[in-house]
Amino acid sequence: MNIEEFKKIFLEEISKNEIQVKENQIKQFYNYMIGIIEWNTKINVTAITDEKMFIVKHFIDSLTINKYVESSNSLIDIGTGAGFPGIPLKIINPNTKITLVDSINKKLNIIRDLSSKINLEKLEIIHSRAEDLAQKKEYREMYDIATTRAVSNISTIVEYMLPFVKVNGLAICMKGPNFKEELDDAQKAIEILGGKIEKIESLNVGEELERNIIIIRKVKKTPNKYPRGQSKPLKEPIR
Ligand code: SAM
Repeated sequence: MNIEEFKKIFLEEISKNEIQVKENQIKQFYNYMIGIIEWNTKINVTAITDEKMFIVKHFIDSLTINKYVESSNSLIDIGTGAGFPGIPLKIINPNTKITLVDSINKKLNIIRDLSSKINLEKLEIIHSRAEDLAQKKEYREMYDIATTRAVSNISTIVEYMLPFVKVNGLAICMKGPNFKEELDDAQKAIEILGGKIEKIESLNVGEELERNIIIIRKVKKTPNKYPRGQSKPLKEPIR
């Protein structure tokens, strides 16, 4: 796909989200996509290699939460993988300080390579488990927003996310269909960790993707003992 074909599809899809995109940002999106698809021939970083699907399922889907990010100064994307939703949000919001975290460094090295090629600034890329990083005082309760897409069940991810969020900030969980039972199971975890469910948005992205966005407001500080170490958020989620 050349950049003109990319631009046509991208602009058509993005117009549904009411997001303004500049010419240089379209180039950044295009070059990021081409870079990931090229890396994917050497290391498996995404299952999505069809370009139209890539635009919809990676870029447009990531930008469904843009309206929450526009008015924020800082965001941490936990379990970012190949940079989703963090990189699309960074391209659209160049002045927001964005931190990407993942426990697997090989994908982060790809993001490091591509983000410098497309000149992204105010972007920090950290190789760590979320639960270790959140216990460091320079990261704890320092962010307006924490995001996760496709990382784990809701009880687990709120323990990864809420410790990073400032009181009054948001934890934004991007979930697929069938999230309701998980959310019921996570009520206690959300409360203990200082969160309160503010709203749930359900929408379709492209023709087949059902996206549910769970917005959790941080209403009080997270007790110091959370997140717990030794993979406890995953193995023994708060119930
Ligand atoms: N968010 C990306 C996306 O939607 O394309 C990647 C999703 S991938 C299925 C889940 C990612 O979460 C993996 O890259 C994994 O290494 C990372 N992950 C899982 N648990 C984590 C933890 N405790 N701390 C940091 N990263 C974690």
